[in-house]
Amino acid sequence: MPRTADVVVIGDGVVGASIAYHLAAAGSRVALLARDGAFAHSATRHSAGQVRMHHSDPHDARLAALSLETFEQWPQLIGGDCGFRRTGFAFLVGDEHADRLARSVKELTELGVSTYGLTPGEFAEAQPALDLTGVAAVAYEPRSGYADPARTAAVLAGRARALGADVVSARAGARLCRSGDLITGAVAGDETVSAGQVVVAAGAGSSGVCADAGAGLGGDGGAGLPLHARQFGWAVADSAALPGAERLCMIIDDTAGTYFRPDGPGRVLFRIPLEPTAAPEGSTRIPADAEEIGVGRALAARRLHGITAAPLIDAARADEAYTDDGRALVGPVGRHPGLYLATGFNGGGFKTAPAVGRAVADELTTGAQRPELGAYRPDRFAAGPPSPTIQRYRHM
Ligand SMILES: Cc1cc2nc3c(=O)[nH]c(=O)nc-3n(C[C@H](O)[C@H](O)[C@H](O)COP(=O)(O)OP(=O)(O)OC[C@H]3O[C@@H](n4cnc5c(N)ncnc54)[C@H](O)[C@@H]3O)c2cc1C
Repeated sequence: MPRTADVVVIGDGVVGASIAYHLAAAGSRVALLARDGAFAHSATRHSAGQVRMHHSDPHDARLAALSLETFEQWPQLIGGDCGFRRTGFAFLVGDEHADRLARSVKELTELGVSTYGLTPGEFAEAQPALDLTGVAAVAYEPRSGYADPARTAAVLAGRARALGADVVSARAGARLCRSGDLITGAVAGDETVSAGQVVVAAGAGSSGVCADAGAGLGGDGGAGLPLHARQFGWAVADSAALPGAERLCMIIDDTAGTYFRPDGPGRVLFRIPLEPTAAPEGSTRIPADAEEIGVGRALAARRLHGITAAPLIDAARADEAYTDDGRALVGPVGRHPGLYLATGFNGGGFKTAPAVGRAVADELTTGAQRPELGAYRPDRFAAGPPSPTIQRYRHM
């Protein structure tokens, strides 16, 4: 006999797990559907886990700000441990963006974010490991840091299960069930789950889930979603020999196009720039001798000289779902009653997952429209490609 649920969530990354948890906490009957072993390749599993508020897009900044308290007070608010570690965060810009940075700090302050501007001289006193040549201004967030993304998703899925959610995994993953334009549930292996709402939160696999059912947003009548997979990567090196590294905060350096952060004691994680294409099939490791590792080291070394020779510990990559306008797809699909999307987080969906999960669960249980999701509605693509969001800085 087919199972029934109020809501089916397809995808066990941090977004699907957060939605499932918040739905279960609100008393909904939820089924969270996964693909056997595929989490190991997900964006969540390989996320750098940065939790910071500074963003080019003020809507993303708002979602990040609405999520921070959850990371900070995880044991009390969710239960368990997401591995959040407060390090502070600094965004570094050159002269051409100093005014823009000051405006962003003002906007973030108006959102209630704890942030302020520093001169490079002031910042250098706190961060002796860094060479700040060419940095004109710094925006600092004392409460930001990083968490453990795999653990965060696992805790959310575990809490959802403890609150009554069914968590079902199948070798081929889940597919949508459709009756005319209506989406009526999903199938995972031998399990068919009928539900009033199906949330597709399958990351870079989301377009395929919709395309397999012939579902789409409707603009051109085609199936699938306006998403493309794009790989992101990082490396971790031993920082024990780097002077001052023990005081390092989390940094995005817009002048060089890199980020780095501590990764527990004696380790530093830094960005590896990769071709903006999908990762090679099945590959999540980056070989130690790959040219990209040297490029990533050289970018980080502009600020952190010793990183060029620091022994490499690990390097990884994964695909993330990108949209053409730089904004996620979150909301119902007009053409397919019963279908709701939560995908396309454009390289930044970890830090916003708590607020997204909470708001999506609220929309699905109460029918209310949550204002913080208003900019992300999928149907903006139904009338053709929307304009890309403004890029305020060189690299963000
Ligand atoms: C290297 C890297 C670094 C990053 N760093 C940061 C950062 O510092 N801060 C930040 O905020 N964000 C960061 N991000 C982005 C962030 O990790 C993602 O936005 C976020 O994890 C997306 O979560 P998701 O749940 O939407 O997708 P995913 O994590 O991709 O999860 C989707 C899940 O759906 C499953 N799935 C797919 N198809 C099916 C199917 N048919 N049936 C069932 N299940 C299916 C997959 O197996 C997967 O487990 C980074 C991403 C990468 C790759």
